[in-house]
Amino acid sequence: MRKNIKVFKFGGASVKDAEAIRNVASILKDYKKERLLVVISAMGKTTNALEKVVHAFFNKKENAKDILKEIQNKHLEIAKELFGENADFEKEISKLVDPVNRLLEKQNKKGYDFVYDQVVSLGELFSTKLIATFLSKKKLPSHWLDARRIIKTDNTYREGNVNWESTQRNISRNVNKLLEKSGFVITQGFIGSSEEKATITLGREGSDFTAAIFSYCLDAESMSIWKDVPGILTGDPRIFKKVEKIDRLSYKEAIEMTYYGAKVIHPKTIKPLQNKSIPMYVKSFVDPAGEGTFIGANVDAFYPPVVVVEKDQVMLQISTKDFSFVAEHHLSFIFTLFTKYRTKVNMMQNMAISFSVCVTIKDLERLTKLIQELKETFNVAVEKDLELITIRHYHKSVIEQMKKHKIVMLEERIRQTIQMVMKDVPVMERK
Ligand code: ADP
Ligand code: ASP
Ligand code: MG
Repeated sequence: MRKNIKVFKFGGASVKDAEAIRNVASILKDYKKERLLVVISAMGKTTNALEKVVHAFFNKKENAKDILKEIQNKHLEIAKELFGENADFEKEISKLVDPVNRLLEKQNKKGYDFVYDQVVSLGELFSTKLIATFLSKKKLPSHWLDARRIIKTDNTYREGNVNWESTQRNISRNVNKLLEKSGFVITQGFIGSSEEKATITLGREGSDFTAAIFSYCLDAESMSIWKDVPGILTGDPRIFKKVEKIDRLSYKEAIEMTYYGAKVIHPKTIKPLQNKSIPMYVKSFVDPAGEGTFIGANVDAFYPPVVVVEKDQVMLQISTKDFSFVAEHHLSFIFTLFTKYRTKVNMMQNMAISFSVCVTIKDLERLTKLIQELKETFNVAVEKDLELITIRHYHKSVIEQMKKHKIVMLEERIRQTIQMVMKDVPVMERK
């Protein structure tokens, strides 16, 4: 049964500094009477900064603990700006950092990904402590909830797979009760914990997904994510000049867009909402009164062309060493390796003597190992510096526009979608 619970998610940009946090408080003020669970990301670019701590720890060039201390201090400064010196708050922050500092003092035995999750999760833990404290001081009572007690995953560090059963159990037992009390429930996006109680992250940009997990398990009435854009647009405004807001999107269309890499919502977000027909809104924290984009069932819209650009693409052209055709058993072996190195295939094409795949460079080290292992069995030609452009509901004119000054390396059209792997035309300067 649908309960009158709402779930909000505020991303990094919406809480990037003291002024942004004040703005979040002013948005929340209007929802004082609601039963509201608020999922919050790390402030601004904190996650990137924490990644540098991990990098420093493993490369031993800089002192990881010093970089972490800087990040901690930045949060304390913002706290001071928002609510003055506060010994209790500082103690809470120390309680979160101390175990991580101890980890950074020891010789590491559990590997990069484990350390990554213990360190990087601090971003969300800090931001939510800070914001919950600020809200309570602003007479917006808030309960801080440790998402690690609730969201349960397997042991895949940096990309935890949610255990829906135990997560559902935890939410039914603990979160519903908390929502009965007056005040907001403030929790972290992006993090959870394994059965062994180690902190696990859900993959970069995973806070949208966290909000969807809570929405699903709480049978929420709606979920809203607050962004620095007016809603979902026909393209990334950082890349394209003329983009329009899409007012209404079906779950299906939203899943397609995010699957192809639209950076506005994490791809795993929509499906749980669709399964329970929970409406979703993408709203602007800059213009909270704006309508935003509605995503839901029974949307029968006529969509304009939507362009998704994925940068950092690499094409691997894989062929057999004995010039035989690439057969099914080869493909099966190739995909085993892609699974082993957790590498998602964005596009693929099988031709007589070669099999081409396009993948995103997410983790260069992992990709290098994958290529090395492929090369033990196959010839592999690697083409870098590529872009993958996907156009949904394409028009000829939009395709032409995208192809300008580009060479198309791979192209595929399926119903309303065209995908092209492209590279820049080399500049030929006259002498
Ligand atoms: P959050 O702070 O919630 O994590 P993100 O930065 O992940 O927010 O997502 C918002 C950004 O997504 C926008 O600033 C915009 O540049 C980018 N974006 C990419 N594609 C789109 C699109 N189709 N519509 C709207 N924004 C988009
Ligand atoms: N803070 C995490 C990241 O930057 C998760 C998120 O913001 O969604 O990737
Ligand atoms: Mg995001």
